[in-house]
Amino acid sequence: MAARPAPYLNELNPAQREAVEVLDGPVLMLAGAGTGKTKALTARVVHLLNTGRARPNEILSVTFTNKAAREMKLRVGRMLGQTVEGMPWLGTFHSICVKQLRRHAELITAEANTDQVVEGPDSQPGLHLKSNFTILDTDDQLRLLKQLVRAAEIDDKRWPARQLANIIEGWKNRALTPDKVPAADGGAFNHRGPELYAAYQRRLLELNAVDFGDLLMHMVTIFQTHPDILAQYQRWFRYILVDEYQDTNVAQYLWLRLLASQHKNICCVGDDDQSIYGWRGAEVGNILRFEKDFPGAHVVRLEQNYRSTPHILAAASGVIRGNTGRLGKELWTQAQDGEKVRLIGHWDGEEEARWIGEEIESMQGGTRGMRPYSLDDMAILVRASHQMRAFEDRFLTIGLPYRVIGGPRFYERMEIRDAMAYFRLVVSPTDDLAFERVVNTPKRGLGDKAQQTIQRIARENGVSLVDGAALAVEQGAIKGKGAKALGELIVGLARWGRMTGDKDVSHMELAEIVLDESGYTGMWQNDKTPEAPGRLENLKELVKALESFENLQGFLEHVALVMDNEKDEAGAKVSIMTLHAAKGLEFPVVFLPGWEDGLFPSQRSMDEPGIQGQKNLEEERRLAYVGITRAEEVCTISFAGNRRVFGQWQSQMPSRFVDELPEEHVEVLTPPGLYGGGYGAATSGGMGGYSSGVEKRAAEANVYNSPGWKRLQERQNQRPVSQPRESRSQVIDLEAVSVHTVGDRVFHQKFGYGAILGIEGDKLEIEFEKAGTKKVVARFIHTADD
Ligand code: ATP
Ligand code: MG
Repeated sequence: MAARPAPYLNELNPAQREAVEVLDGPVLMLAGAGTGKTKALTARVVHLLNTGRARPNEILSVTFTNKAAREMKLRVGRMLGQTVEGMPWLGTFHSICVKQLRRHAELITAEANTDQVVEGPDSQPGLHLKSNFTILDTDDQLRLLKQLVRAAEIDDKRWPARQLANIIEGWKNRALTPDKVPAADGGAFNHRGPELYAAYQRRLLELNAVDFGDLLMHMVTIFQTHPDILAQYQRWFRYILVDEYQDTNVAQYLWLRLLASQHKNICCVGDDDQSIYGWRGAEVGNILRFEKDFPGAHVVRLEQNYRSTPHILAAASGVIRGNTGRLGKELWTQAQDGEKVRLIGHWDGEEEARWIGEEIESMQGGTRGMRPYSLDDMAILVRASHQMRAFEDRFLTIGLPYRVIGGPRFYERMEIRDAMAYFRLVVSPTDDLAFERVVNTPKRGLGDKAQQTIQRIARENGVSLVDGAALAVEQGAIKGKGAKALGELIVGLARWGRMTGDKDVSHMELAEIVLDESGYTGMWQNDKTPEAPGRLENLKELVKALESFENLQGFLEHVALVMDNEKDEAGAKVSIMTLHAAKGLEFPVVFLPGWEDGLFPSQRSMDEPGIQGQKNLEEERRLAYVGITRAEEVCTISFAGNRRVFGQWQSQMPSRFVDELPEEHVEVLTPPGLYGGGYGAATSGGMGGYSSGVEKRAAEANVYNSPGWKRLQERQNQRPVSQPRESRSQVIDLEAVSVHTVGDRVFHQKFGYGAILGIEGDKLEIEFEKAGTKKVVARFIHTADD
């Protein structure tokens, strides 16, 4: 039966089709933003399934975020025209590795892990990881490291645990177990780094825990030391696909290379200009090395951008051109010209948030000649997560629905972390960190001394803290009220643990029982602080969130892994996220606030001297490129003259990246609050945000004095008056003209204040106070409202 070309192939251009149809051997798709790499990769999965080359469980497909994995699954189903059963190996590096590691955990032993450690008196021979291991979050990790630093009698003020955490993460990103740390790194953390790393790994084993970096590193270790297991996976994964390949680190690269080394059916897609995780150990070199690792690789380049308008694309290309050592790709698009990239300066961060909030509201109805947009179409992408606060506050005030993606997380709140610690203890009673967190929360009369006693007894007997606590009660080492309460906790934990196997109790019911019977819910019910009701609400939310999981363990894993926000409520929402989290996504309307030196590029990247500083700055520039290329139709970049950073007011300079925007693709907007009304009738009402003229003029005076604003003015003065945009709709031009009459006092970005002498079509003759009489285009004029 002659098959018609499947519809999913017809949606692709020839280069994409090539990347989809060359199924055997290594394929590298190297192309700029929005050229359809992810789309082609998805079609490739569909093609593998559709042609019967692979069953769903024989495809290993790595995405960068969990959100991207969900999306790919959905699209595969849609393209295939049926829901995909399985695809168990479609996910992030971490989610796939956690699955693998649970199957082989016992192969991670003290010996494999930490050669250098001299076995201490309390060492346990045959110690190994167990399949119900806990995944530590950064908080637990830091607490643990701090204990180790102090135990090693190192001053943790001078040598903070966080620094050690970064060093260890760096080693793990390179898949360096303690025995493999190179001599050149021996000086790390005042020469104690390697030894503390070994101690940390050992402690993790004792706790039956891993951290994020371990997931990849342990799997690489297992593959390297157990060829039989590697061979099994190599047979299993007949086809491997990787999105966002430019952001893989060494450990991920090794893992992929090991898995692909037999059949070599590996397809990687990426863009060197979008490598933005260097600070986390990603090596853009991986993508450049692909052809060497896989000789004869089929390389596909895509050049047509399907996402953005020409102005947006040109602005992004203009910025990224500032980087050296690029592979250099030219992008083109068939899209209509559309809006120029819009640039606007504000007095401060609050004003920026206010303006963006109001702009979003008016864009829903269609404004300034643009089509109407839904809230779902709009996103605010920030450089640093602390920028989100101003937007969240503002949007809450005006009741604008929003979602934070990957931001300050629900799961990081105190009450949620406490509750999760209880759940962790129920699932794995040896989770000592969880026990430490909740043993005296709510208060059980177990102070520092009692807790030290528990620690000591546990250590002496080589048992977990829960068991140590039981011994302490039994032996009478803890007495009185504390002993009674502790006894109840221990008995409770055992009972709840048994209930995990009880078919008649759902895990949601169990969660509620645990929180009630432990006294945790009661603690907040009796709390009279204003936060308590909110915390109780959050706990309810937590139990609700459990619903979509099979059991507590699955949920705990999800929380440890998934950085995305919890389940969304219905209704359209503006998305707020960091630029890093926005990778691979697209939105019709994108706001890029906070383009100020010190914020973006970040201070850290600017402070570093020499080559490293240059590298950091280039990574920031790639981030700018990622940001602009998320936009399909409207991209608005903004900056503020003043910003409160960590409680301190600072004068800000517009970002150097603002200067790098090619001016022919940029339109400078004027904040209406400054010049009164601004864009005309459609949006002027209430946009100023100043309640009195005096207040407004005071703000204006301040803005003119801020260095950031002066710099924008200088920029404006250096540039010739731009031509009006052809694409702008007639209605708006007429509006711009019709709002002016002879005698009006007006403001022009280049020439300052003046009065209208005459009107000729869309041109105005104006007598400027400083610049003399000039003819200017009406749409560059704003009414000066005084
Ligand atoms: P990024 O580098 O940002 O991850 P990408 O190269 O992965 O981008 P995609 O997200 O796959 O690009 O595609 C960008 C947009 O272009 C999507 O909306 C996609 O549906 C559309 N697109 C891709 N290829 C085609 C095509 N051949 N015809 C029409 N639209 C396409
Ligand atoms: Mg993509």
